[in-house]
Amino acid sequence: MVDYYENNNANVHRGVHSLSLEATEMYEKSREHVTKFINANDSSEIIFTRGATEAINLTAYAWGLNNLKENDEVLIFLMEHHSNIIPWEITAKLCGFKIKYVNVTSDGILDIKDFENKISSKTKIVCLSHVSNVTGVANDIKSLSKTTHDHGAVLLVDGAQSVPHMPIDVQNLDVDFLAFSGHKMLGPTGIGVLYTKKTLQQKMNPYQGGGEMIKDVTFNSEKQLCNISWNEPPWKFEAGTPNISGIIGLSAAINYLEQIGMNNILAHEQDLTKYAIEKMKSLTKISIYGPTDSSKCGIIPFNINGLSSHEVALLCDSYGITIRSGYHCAQPLHQIFQIPSSARASFYLYNTHEEIDYFLNVLKEVQTL
Ligand code: PLP
Repeated sequence: MVDYYENNNANVHRGVHSLSLEATEMYEKSREHVTKFINANDSSEIIFTRGATEAINLTAYAWGLNNLKENDEVLIFLMEHHSNIIPWEITAKLCGFKIKYVNVTSDGILDIKDFENKISSKTKIVCLSHVSNVTGVANDIKSLSKTTHDHGAVLLVDGAQSVPHMPIDVQNLDVDFLAFSGHKMLGPTGIGVLYTKKTLQQKMNPYQGGGEMIKDVTFNSEKQLCNISWNEPPWKFEAGTPNISGIIGLSAAINYLEQIGMNNILAHEQDLTKYAIEKMKSLTKISIYGPTDSSKCGIIPFNINGLSSHEVALLCDSYGITIRSGYHCAQPLHQIFQIPSSARASFYLYNTHEEIDYFLNVLKEVQTL
């Protein structure tokens, strides 16, 4: 990112001068890198956004408003982050489709029976996170994708908590849309990705209007209007000056993750999670939510009897331990757990067993307060 600002700082796809050509090359190379990282079929399937949130909003507006009408149904699981609920609630009010929410069990697992009961020929899209940001539960995307496609619907996967932590192959998973964020995978803030299957892009309207997303704008003075033709995807969905340095930074982050290996990252996090859960279970005042087996990713939601989740997080912070507290933008799932909030320990590739030992010693002290 520093190199770009120091040596190639110009806008992309705009100029004929050297700096612009260099910036464009770096920008499009990053797109190709992301394409390979998730094994997309073609780099035109990679749309750069501000983050997972904008990627899901883009889907709801650019695909949803163009493909959904009254009597159509959108299925959303109750484990979703608000960013995979609210865009659909907003667009439902604009075009009148119906949202059906699919249950999650009190253990934080998808209620597949409820999904099978609710999916029908009216269902047009199923919206689901790959890994829950509250419990770390990893959903069986391949099987859910098959059921979704068998009913003629498409699948949007929120990969914000999976793409940074495990190998992802969009063709093998057969997802139609995949959203993720750069800042959750060692990249900079303000950058994200929406993968969209090429076949669906033709059925999508632009998300925002402006420079770069058009091919031609000609003024018709007789009719007093502009005739517009859209640019090809992915640029059709990237209006205005993009986050060029952020996109270059995302590619650098992917490079780093690839050198370590996504399988190694997943194995390391699962090992840490298993280690931490075993130790946490021995603490008498702690409740852990969701499954505690080895299938989950590196996230442990918990509460300590007699303390609010924010009190736990503040006490941990005073020992130099950073954990989240609150409802983690997933209030419906906390309703299912019948708790107002939770503290959440989460791990990434840089965490160690020694840090977990220290964390456990702190929790032991905190639970005596
Ligand atoms: N989806 C999940 C599962 C998340 O954990 C998050 C962020 O916490 C988001 C979506 C939203 O990501 P962003 O804020 O980067 O757009």
